[in-house]
Amino acid sequence: MAQQETRANGRIAVLAASKLSPLYAAPLAERYELLDRLHETDPAAFAAAAPRIRAVAASGESKLPGALVASLPALEIVAVMGVGYDGIDVAACKSRGAKVTHTPDVLNDDVADLAIGLMLSAARQLPAADRYVRSGDWAAKGAMPLARRMSGARCGIVGMGRIGKAIAQRALAFGMSVAYTARSAKAELPYEFHATPAALAAASDFLVVITPGGAGTRHLIDAAVLRALGKKGILVNVARGSVVDEPALIEALEQGVIGGAALDVFADEPNVPERLRALPHVVLVPHIGSATTSTRQAMADLALANLEAHFAGRPLKTPVPECR
Ligand code: NAP
Repeated sequence: MAQQETRANGRIAVLAASKLSPLYAAPLAERYELLDRLHETDPAAFAAAAPRIRAVAASGESKLPGALVASLPALEIVAVMGVGYDGIDVAACKSRGAKVTHTPDVLNDDVADLAIGLMLSAARQLPAADRYVRSGDWAAKGAMPLARRMSGARCGIVGMGRIGKAIAQRALAFGMSVAYTARSAKAELPYEFHATPAALAAASDFLVVITPGGAGTRHLIDAAVLRALGKKGILVNVARGSVVDEPALIEALEQGVIGGAALDVFADEPNVPERLRALPHVVLVPHIGSATTSTRQAMADLALANLEAHFAGRPLKTPVPECR
């Protein structure tokens, strides 16, 4: 604590809510008094520092519950490096007069690229094919079993926002038909709208999930949706683990209710159930949707620009919709 007080040097105190990318943490530490997860590492020092903490820096996976917000009487702004902010109690922040910002748009292309990569990986069994060569099975057993075609198939997108639209554009380039569900139909889009995920699943070969997480979408993809997707259908989740009923998904994969899955996000990251990891034809990647150097740099720059704008009295660059 003594060290933190001497380092403070009159700079604005910013709490890092969780482990931050170095691309965000390094400039923060240069310009602010960065208190890195002090609430977790040293509760007494946190209690002493809390009255002067004016900002929280967070990632898309950070948790900022109401109780933590309540312990920060001087809180003015929460700057999330990520587009999803389902771990942040925005209502609690607003009730204290604090704003929340995030980093939309700059990551659309990367997440959409990954969604297409996952669709291809699951359809053409790329990770299993790679293992087939490395293990010597190719030489020992001959050609792999035939895979399934992605070009020309039906792509159903659950969530037609910024990233959903970028996925749709890419799917069109593969000659796929595109349909979607969202809270409301988008008259300006040429794609077929289905009112529910189950109706969309029944009309899709690939079902790609790209909604926000949080209470409003919890288990939107449940056993009934998976049954509707059917035994040849492939589920791709690049949204949040909470959007899919994970036990129901594991059951559906084990029982052959659906054909396959490719997942970037999980219910309890980084813990992935053993039963899921044991399924050889399911593609699993560790939440890498926006994980390229240039995109993470753009996200860090935007998160920092929001903080700088706030403390300079300028309009925020990208407040979340609830704070506009
Ligand atoms: P966005 O522009 O706000 O779009 C969200 C879409 O989800 C909207 O079309 C919205 O419908 C729809 N939606 C919301 N609640 C729904 C519900 N209950 N039922 C059906 N549809 C619902 O957000 P975005 O920028 O595309 O990002 C979407 C999410 O992707 C983020 O919130 C984040 O969780 C996730 N994400 C993941 C990664 C990763 O690394 N895997 C990276 C970035 C983002 P309306 O249009 O009708 O409102």
